[in-house]
Amino acid sequence: MSATAHEAAMFLHRIKILTLAGFTIWIDISWLILAALLIWTLALGEFPRTVPNLSAATYWWMGFAGTIGLFISIILHELSHALIARRYDMPIAGITLFIFGGVAELNKEPSSAKAEFLMAIGGPIASMVLGTILLLIAAASEKTVSPAAFGVLDYLGGLNWILALFNLIPAFPLDGGRVLRAGLWGWMNDFGRATRIAAGSGASSSALP
Ligand SMILES: [Zn+2]
Repeated sequence: MSATAHEAAMFLHRIKILTLAGFTIWIDISWLILAALLIWTLALGEFPRTVPNLSAATYWWMGFAGTIGLFISIILHELSHALIARRYDMPIAGITLFIFGGVAELNKEPSSAKAEFLMAIGGPIASMVLGTILLLIAAASEKTVSPAAFGVLDYLGGLNWILALFNLIPAFPLDGGRVLRAGLWGWMNDFGRATRIAAGSGASSSALP
C-alpha cells in the first residue's frame, strides 16, 4: 500500500524500529494487535490443522515464526514500493506497519502515470516473487527439514501470494486502486478524471465531489 503523508496522518502511536535503504520503518501500536491475533490463530488453528501431531509449545513457536515472517514480508513489499518511488523522484517519508498491513508514505503524488503504475505494481510483484521462492524452498526441503519448519515456510509462501492478490483488488487505498488510476490516467491523460473514476470503485468515493 502507499499513501500521501496527509492520508497517513492517522498513525499517532507509532515507534521507529529501524532504517532500511535510507527509509525509516515505523510500527504503529495497532500492528501489535494484528501480531498477537496472528500468533494465536496460527498456534491454535492453522498449524495444528496443516501440520498435525506436534507439541503445543512447537505450535506457539511456529506461530511466532510465522508472524515474524509476515512482518518481514510486509516490509519487503513496502520497500519495493519505496525503492521504485525514489527512483521516480517521489520522496518517501517512511514505511509504517499497522493493523491492515503496511503503507509507504509518499511526500507528494506521483508525477506521471508510468511512475504511479510501476510504484503501485512493485509491491504485489515483490510479494509474488517472495511467495514463489518460499513455496519452492518448502517443496524442495519437505523431506529434509522438520515438519515445523516446512509448515512455516509453506504457510509464508501462500501468505505472500494472498498479500499480492488482495492488494491488487482495484480499490483505493489498495495497490490495485493506484494501478487502475495509473492506467486510466495514461489512457485519458487526465489525472483528476482518472482519480474520480478509480476512487468510484473504492471506499474513498465519499471524500470526492
Ligand atoms: Zn502495496
